Amino acid sequence: MPISIAKQIPEPFQLTQQQFDSLKAQSCLPDRAAVQRALNSAKPTFADLQALLSPAATEFLPQMLARATQLKRQRSGRTLSLFAPLYLSNLCSNECSYCGFSRSVAVKRRILTVDEALLETATIQALGIAQILLVTGEHSRKAGVDYLLQVTQALRPQVARLMLESQPLDVSDYQQLRSAGIDAVMLYQETYDPQSYARHHTFGAKADMANRLAAPARVAQAGIAQLGMGVLLGLSDWRTDVLVLAQHLRFLQQHWYQLAFSVALPRLKPCAGQSTQHSGVSDRDYLQLLCALKIFAPELSLSISTRDSPALRDLLLTSIACSASAGSKTQPGGYAVAPQSLAQFSIDDERSPADIAAMLRASGIAPVWQDWHPLLGR
Ligand code: SF4
Repeated sequence: MPISIAKQIPEPFQLTQQQFDSLKAQSCLPDRAAVQRALNSAKPTFADLQALLSPAATEFLPQMLARATQLKRQRSGRTLSLFAPLYLSNLCSNECSYCGFSRSVAVKRRILTVDEALLETATIQALGIAQILLVTGEHSRKAGVDYLLQVTQALRPQVARLMLESQPLDVSDYQQLRSAGIDAVMLYQETYDPQSYARHHTFGAKADMANRLAAPARVAQAGIAQLGMGVLLGLSDWRTDVLVLAQHLRFLQQHWYQLAFSVALPRLKPCAGQSTQHSGVSDRDYLQLLCALKIFAPELSLSISTRDSPALRDLLLTSIACSASAGSKTQPGGYAVAPQSLAQFSIDDERSPADIAAMLRASGIAPVWQDWHPLLGR
């Protein structure tokens, strides 16, 4: 007997300021013994994750990295999947304090035509990349679902895997995009701290935090194969944001066990209009939180962007990461159509995909350019 869809839809994931503040107040309390228990646990709990994220865990960082690396290799071997972002548009009707695409920032706006998107795709493919993440600013009128469908249908036959990072959409929109060829959707919460969320998102649809919190469930309801989640480190207390992200992840896993999950945790960086902003999250903090999350949820695929330095990326890409962008351009037309236009954020690792692949091979890691062929069906 078919299962009713209505029965599968849970109440949306929610979090009050009081709950966030309470978790934050506990975030530095775990001691060495709690960290050791967490490291020895076969099935870490939220309390274990809290311990691994705490200051007491910093002295165990080598053990955490070894454990997280072991778990990654058990799950996906000595491999790393490579992809590139394709920025379709920098039009945005939101005001996010940390982003150079915000509506009030004076940058030249551009939305690629389908032909331009195809040209960008061909340029990315010439670099060896067959997995592409389509990225847009949030502009429902000009970069809405009709536009995304046109681009998806045109690009689908050209690439092995298509992912999408855009404004949150309705279930029916995601269903159409899935049918057109979208394999994965990335939806970043930015922060789970309600006060910080309100402070950093001051205009537009993105200011509605409840809508953003509910959006990942809509991706799952639409039957998209993979959901990417994350926070922007530096908007609030990183320990608490990562802990709540893990709670949100578990909530979704309980209802949609068949969904594959990835996580990206970018750190706040300077951008147009905000040239001095920094995350306050050091490389050691970053390594700690990534290892903690991998130990807590080994099934998670950790994705690393070119925002990080080559030295840090070399470490992450050869140990705990499952996927990474390479050769990235973070502006619409950045690969071929308009290479001089202003990027969404500066990148630190400007090495080509070939250079990244050579580094991986030298460390005994096999670069994965595509893990499925479109001719085999989806
Ligand atoms: S973060 Fe996204 S929604 Fe916010 S201004 Fe930038 S592109 Fe727009």
